[in-house]
Amino acid sequence: MAVMGQVSLVGAGPGDPALLTRKAVARLRAADLVLYDALVDDRVVRLARRAQRFFVGKRAGRHTLSQAAIHAVMIRAARRGRQVVRLKGGDPFVFGRGGEEALALAAAGVPFDIVPGVSSAVAAPALAGIPVTHRGIASAFLVISGHDEDAFAATIGRLAPEGLTIVVLMGVGRRAALASRLIDRGWPPATPAAIVADASLPQQQVWRGTLDDLASDRAQVEGDGPAAIVVGAVAAMALTGDLAQVAETEKEKERKRS
Ligand code: SAH
Repeated sequence: MAVMGQVSLVGAGPGDPALLTRKAVARLRAADLVLYDALVDDRVVRLARRAQRFFVGKRAGRHTLSQAAIHAVMIRAARRGRQVVRLKGGDPFVFGRGGEEALALAAAGVPFDIVPGVSSAVAAPALAGIPVTHRGIASAFLVISGHDEDAFAATIGRLAPEGLTIVVLMGVGRRAALASRLIDRGWPPATPAAIVADASLPQQQVWRGTLDDLASDRAQVEGDGPAAIVVGAVAAMALTGDLAQVAETEKEKERKRS
């Protein structure tokens, strides 16, 4: 029997290869087989120079390979002694089904490790100059999927409005409905909101406005790149080195104190 290989569940970060971890790069260079998702930049996939590389993500809304088939391929390859990298956008355990894959590998007795990645949940706001927490403005943040509107509504129904930052992933196509749910739940329509699309890539775009703008479909983002929605007072911040913004932030803190 061949020596057992192993699987690494690797986070590829938001896109820019410079945001990969050193461990991710090392795993890619050593890989024999890479299974990668949509949203993983080509330049990152190409780091796995000697590997066979397969796209297993969604194309035109359809999965090219079922989740069960992905598990089976990884398990079989590892049992044949291969070094497998399962490469996912952002962090593998943030809406990436990494947990399910780890369970399947454990059940099959295949050794695996987790290589965390820079999640777009934090990186997309940061690259638009939005800190997800900021002393005096937001002391917590919630990362939520906008994929299922009812699940979204159930989660925000358990929160008191305001007081925290909400980062919505997989929700840009449903932004108007999601924003309306927040307003219905008691979030003020004037709450700042932002959309950060294609974060870390040359085509990055940032839109800023209010929850009301989102709810009435006034938010503009071009293209169909991945996008994160940020809701909360911090969404009005743009700490990109512009000194005028610092004064705005101080004003916002003043407003919250009064
Ligand atoms: N595991 C990933 C998230 C997977 S869900 C992570 O940790 O980042 C996919 C969603 O992530 C997209 O719908 C989008 O909301 C967000 N996303 C991924 N890459 C992004 C990017 N470069 N810019 C903005 N949002 C991004």
